[in-house]
Amino acid sequence: MTTEISPSDSDRSIAIRAARILDVHTGRYETNQVLVIEGGRVKAIGNSVPPDARVIDLGDRVVMPGLIDAHTHILIQGTLTIPDFEHQLLEEYPAHRVVRAVRAVRIALEHGFTTMRDLETEGAGYDDVAIRDAIREGVIVGPRLQVSGWALSPTGSYPITHFRPDWQFPSGVGICDGPDECRVTVRRQLSYGVDWIKVYVNRGPGERPTSDGYIDSAPNWTREELDAIVSEAHARGARVAAHATSDTGVRMSIDAGVESIEHGYSIRPEAAREMADRGIVLCPTLTATDYMAPPRIAERGPIWGEVQRVQRRSVENCLAAGVKIAFGTDAGGFPWTEINQANEFRHLVAHGLSPLDAIRSATIVAADVLGLTGVVGAIRPGSQADLIAVTGDPLEDVSCLMNVAFVMQNGAVVKDLAATT
Ligand SMILES: [Zn+2]
Repeated sequence: MTTEISPSDSDRSIAIRAARILDVHTGRYETNQVLVIEGGRVKAIGNSVPPDARVIDLGDRVVMPGLIDAHTHILIQGTLTIPDFEHQLLEEYPAHRVVRAVRAVRIALEHGFTTMRDLETEGAGYDDVAIRDAIREGVIVGPRLQVSGWALSPTGSYPITHFRPDWQFPSGVGICDGPDECRVTVRRQLSYGVDWIKVYVNRGPGERPTSDGYIDSAPNWTREELDAIVSEAHARGARVAAHATSDTGVRMSIDAGVESIEHGYSIRPEAAREMADRGIVLCPTLTATDYMAPPRIAERGPIWGEVQRVQRRSVENCLAAGVKIAFGTDAGGFPWTEINQANEFRHLVAHGLSPLDAIRSATIVAADVLGLTGVVGAIRPGSQADLIAVTGDPLEDVSCLMNVAFVMQNGAVVKDLAATT
């Protein structure tokens, strides 16, 4: 594998020859086209190669927009068990965590993910803001990031808890209690440069199954607290991602008007209809559920054995209601070095999405969630030149997205498994 950043590429005209370019809007392949890239953006899609352009011939590969993962954790490296989590917060030096995050963003980019929304640092403060900015500056390579800093949760609701009270221990979240303190905390988050407010709405995944086959657990907040967080974020132009894994958590999140429901293990049909009506997207993170369920059954109880079954119903309810599904993996919850985020495509298809809709979830839908429509997520004149190429037919078999052969970001080639001219 060759990986390089080529800043000069942004200044030079590039012509990409491709047998097939996937138009994610129409779901059709455009054949034998030339993509002209200038200044890091797509200038034209046509038939002619500009004079003096550098030509990249991708042969019979399929060219697609760069992928978007709308739920990641670059600053953690697998939290399969409680000791995994505590080790990273209590024993790893902050710089060690940052260096491993630098590796994580490089892995993601090489897998074809040119944009990500990173939803909480798990005790690493605002290091995600710093990494986002270092990528923007070109200091390191990685996906363009939108970040959330600390996620918010009230006292006693999120680890690390129950350690000796006369010592101070780090927490995985930013703690706030009461509507006024919640508003101040949102303001502080935004003052440090986060793009999103992430909030843990319920404890999860939940302690009890309901009589009709869903999952419920106690909410973390009063209605007034959650309303304060969401309304304060919205008043300042920020958006809110809600970790909501129980029936109560999902309902409270909808009522408060969040932009996205994360995980959403337990979404009844009526809640799904309301999500669709209000334009709230679901980011189901199926890869993480699949990875975490078996060990968590052993560690945290049999409810984890129900999660995958209930989540399948919830995704079906959302699809039936027309809820938009945004591609999100929870990478970092599982180790970046062990599982490719593109696994999520196979899980989405197994949960009822067509291959095209699974691809749309990681392109046009995720771009819309991130407020980047027209910038990324589709190959159009004027969009950023974020492209990938794969061998095979992703509209027939999404597993070919596990082997991305070519990655371009902002017009710079960051991965190319074959020699180009
Ligand atoms: Zn997560």
